[in-house]
Amino acid sequence: MSPTPAVRPPYRVLQVGCGPTGTSVLRGLVSRLDAVGTRLEYEVADPAVMGPGLAFSTPYDLHLLNVRADRMSLHPQDKGEFAHWRQRSAAAHGIPSAGDDYPPRRLFGAYARWVLDDVLRTARRAGPGVRVTHERAVAVRRDGDGRWRCRFASGRVATYDRVVLALGHLPSARYAPEEGGSRFLRDPWGGLEVPADARVGVIGTRLTGVDVALALLERGHAGPVLLASRSGLLPSVKGRTVAYELAHLPGFVADQRRHGRDGGVGLETVAAVIGREVQEAEGARRIRWSEVLHPPPSSPVTLRAGLAVAESAGVLGRQSVLAAVVPWVPALWRLLDELGKQRLMSTYVGVWAANIASFPAVSARRLLGMMDDGRLAVRPGLIGVRPSGSGYEMRFADASPVSVDVVVNATGPGYGRDSLLAAPLTRDLLSSRTAVAHRFGGVAVDERTFEVRGADGSVAPGLHVVGDLTRGVWLATNAVENSVSQAAQLADVVAGAVER
Ligand SMILES: Cc1cc2nc3c(=O)[nH]c(=O)nc-3n(C[C@H](O)[C@H](O)[C@H](O)COP(=O)(O)OP(=O)(O)OC[C@H]3O[C@@H](n4cnc5c(N)ncnc54)[C@H](O)[C@@H]3O)c2cc1C
Repeated sequence: MSPTPAVRPPYRVLQVGCGPTGTSVLRGLVSRLDAVGTRLEYEVADPAVMGPGLAFSTPYDLHLLNVRADRMSLHPQDKGEFAHWRQRSAAAHGIPSAGDDYPPRRLFGAYARWVLDDVLRTARRAGPGVRVTHERAVAVRRDGDGRWRCRFASGRVATYDRVVLALGHLPSARYAPEEGGSRFLRDPWGGLEVPADARVGVIGTRLTGVDVALALLERGHAGPVLLASRSGLLPSVKGRTVAYELAHLPGFVADQRRHGRDGGVGLETVAAVIGREVQEAEGARRIRWSEVLHPPPSSPVTLRAGLAVAESAGVLGRQSVLAAVVPWVPALWRLLDELGKQRLMSTYVGVWAANIASFPAVSARRLLGMMDDGRLAVRPGLIGVRPSGSGYEMRFADASPVSVDVVVNATGPGYGRDSLLAAPLTRDLLSSRTAVAHRFGGVAVDERTFEVRGADGSVAPGLHVVGDLTRGVWLATNAVENSVSQAAQLADVVAGAVER
């Protein structure tokens, strides 16, 4: 009698997090799951509504996409997928199916959910299917057999051969020790339940600060709102961007890489190439770098001027070029030398963010309306916030404090150690020394396989990280376009490993 062949246990994969990036990873993998058949068990864990993720779950209609709808797609090849879905489905969500280049973000959230539902249906047809659990993972550690043991907030523990962390945006960096109560909101996306006449102080003047002001406007907030930061700089106003073909950057990147110059190119050299693209698009003679790098703080005057440029007819300017630069940022970041990276992150990151992460003119006009009505002010020179009476005092470098009733930390997603320690799972990854904080944000990962790198630089086999948590490695991790291309690469890596 021949011996019964040993039955191999199934290969188990866990994906933690299913926002737009997790949905894209799953989409890239599902078409290949049937090749592996029932020997594979794929589990997706996320306690939130899966699909939209943080940015596209907002209930506020004034929270608009800040990237043109026709550049927003969760399909790596079909860039028009969202635009086509919108034509068919927007009306069902109470939103016009065309017309606005920047529709409400919640519409993209509904599209992401539609993509996910389709992917799950395909997975069911393809064979092993995907098991969805609404659980929060709180720890992932390697066991003695080289597999990954995951603990969930429910207390459940399970072991996997491979784990993909698509955790998305980390909590904001803590601004002051007092933050976290109902009068000092740590989470600007969590409902903004503030008394209607409260004086609200918002820490942050970039996209998240703008989100807070617009949410308060939509809520009919009657009290004054102050957006404050060190620079006092609002994002630049997005004009009519058009698809722009870069003339110099692609050749520059190819040339540098051919000569093996990764990590060896100075910041000025990279800035000069981007500057040349902008200059040619704008038809201007020379970029005045001192004006670009040291803009004045925002005010009704600067906002009005920004709007005038953005809304002037036939503009083919900076915003179109910068939109075309976004997908190239990871390659440029890779080319930069260490000094260039440090200078960008320590000195110029604010100006860079204000330019690259611009906001639609329609939102700018709403802010201007609030400013003109005296309901909103923007101030530079913020140096701290401290408790004062039943509220807080916002302190400024010019020594004229402002009293507010409620403070909102709107500094945006965090990237540093403080933010990594604020979420249980990333805290556990650091404390177990499975992962280390990357000096430029997030955690260190291998550029090719997305596997986590430990303190000694060694790779953790089978533990992958994708999305904003890899910011230090690629810099551009906070636009859907970049998430989708990262997710497609990671899906290839995971599919290859599972098939092997
Ligand atoms: C306010 C805001 C506005 C934005 N607007 C735009 C825009 O207009 N256009 C654009 O291109 N990009 C925009 N972005 C960037 C965009 O959010 C990202 O590019 C990308 O879509 C993020 O998707 P994600 O799935 O990686 O992360 P997230 O959307 O953060 O989703 C992560 C998911 O992981 C889950 N999760 C986290 N931790 C755990 C855990 N321990 N266990 C289980 N599940 C977990 C969360 O519940 C969540 O569902 C915006 C970002 C922000 C913050």
